[in-house]
Amino acid sequence: MNTKIASFLEERRPETPCLVLDLDVVAGNYQALAEAMPDSRIFYAVKANPAPQILSLLAAMGSCFDTASVVEIRDALAAGATADRISFGNTIKKRVDIATAYALGIRLFAFDSEAELRKIAEVAPGARVFCRILTSGEGAEWPLSRKFGCEPCMARDLLAMAPGLGLDAYGVSFHVGSQQRDTGAWDKALESAAGIFRDLAAQGIELKMVNLGGGFPTKYLKEVPTPEAYGRAIDASLRQHFGNRLPETIIEPGRGMVGNAGVIQSEVVLISNKSANDNTRWVYLDIGKFGGLAETMDEAIRYPITTIHDGDAAEPAILAGPTCDSADVLYEKNAYPMPVSLAIGDKVLIHGTGAYTTTYSAVAFNGFAPLQAYYI
Ligand SMILES: *Cc1c(COP(=O)(O)O)cnc(C)c1O
Repeated sequence: MNTKIASFLEERRPETPCLVLDLDVVAGNYQALAEAMPDSRIFYAVKANPAPQILSLLAAMGSCFDTASVVEIRDALAAGATADRISFGNTIKKRVDIATAYALGIRLFAFDSEAELRKIAEVAPGARVFCRILTSGEGAEWPLSRKFGCEPCMARDLLAMAPGLGLDAYGVSFHVGSQQRDTGAWDKALESAAGIFRDLAAQGIELKMVNLGGGFPTKYLKEVPTPEAYGRAIDASLRQHFGNRLPETIIEPGRGMVGNAGVIQSEVVLISNKSANDNTRWVYLDIGKFGGLAETMDEAIRYPITTIHDGDAAEPAILAGPTCDSADVLYEKNAYPMPVSLAIGDKVLIHGTGAYTTTYSAVAFNGFAPLQAYYI
């Protein structure tokens, strides 16, 4: 853990559970991504962590913002971003929200279906639209399934309709799956995107932009490639599929921007066994799936966990949260090695928790307060 967060915890001794996030780490991540992909504009995926401190910092550094709702748009504007630096990237939007976004000056919208395209045409005339295509999500630890995107041939047909509806057919987007540890994962989608660009050019429509989405990882237990490695792989794919007619590109990092900036401090509430002759320990923390650790669903994201007893002998334990819901178990199929000396009341640090935690914490399930957060 970095010394800034360590001294904050030492000096302030905040009540647990809480997230402490180091804004300097976010600034470093922004810089590293900008340097690794100098030809792409960065649209921070606000949903990863919408704290005003993060949004203001990134706005001041020159970041653009990808938003999922009117509230996120207003938050990005309040943080100092102008409307031309904000995209409405959710493919599932109410008509009234598209209209509100348009009234706020937003002119860049995602879609992946004809019905959504028509909604945008009705209430956001002249806007730039980009169509999201399906990807396999292979290689991602938090895949995004088939919920978003359409087949490339459908994207081609819908983009071809856009000018007739009074919209600016602007480009293609995709998301290769979150926590994507394969730097080559962008290649197939870029090949599809280039095909769509060619087909539309043949119809006299010049698409301009490829939105490369998120997927840039944060380090949990396993090593992850550097931003430069992603930049190199994506650049090579772009050149291979688009030749010397490179499109404008944008990236939408969420996890890769804020994940490693945060640490959650938690406390052991109970350690128990289920029978006298079963020595499997159940370790209950004061945070679980409903307190912000929702990404432990199916044990997908495995956070690094440390305690003051690290170095002592460790044995696998079942880790669970404090609520009266049987789904509130963090790691059971793959039990988590925890020090044998761990005791009730000990602090437990859960690392890499800057993304997708605070906003996933329930408002008052079982009476527990939403995850407290400090941005330092
Ligand atoms: C969630 C999301 C992102 C961020 O993804 P990460 O894997 O966290 O970088 C980017 N773009 C869109 C459209 C998203 O929905």
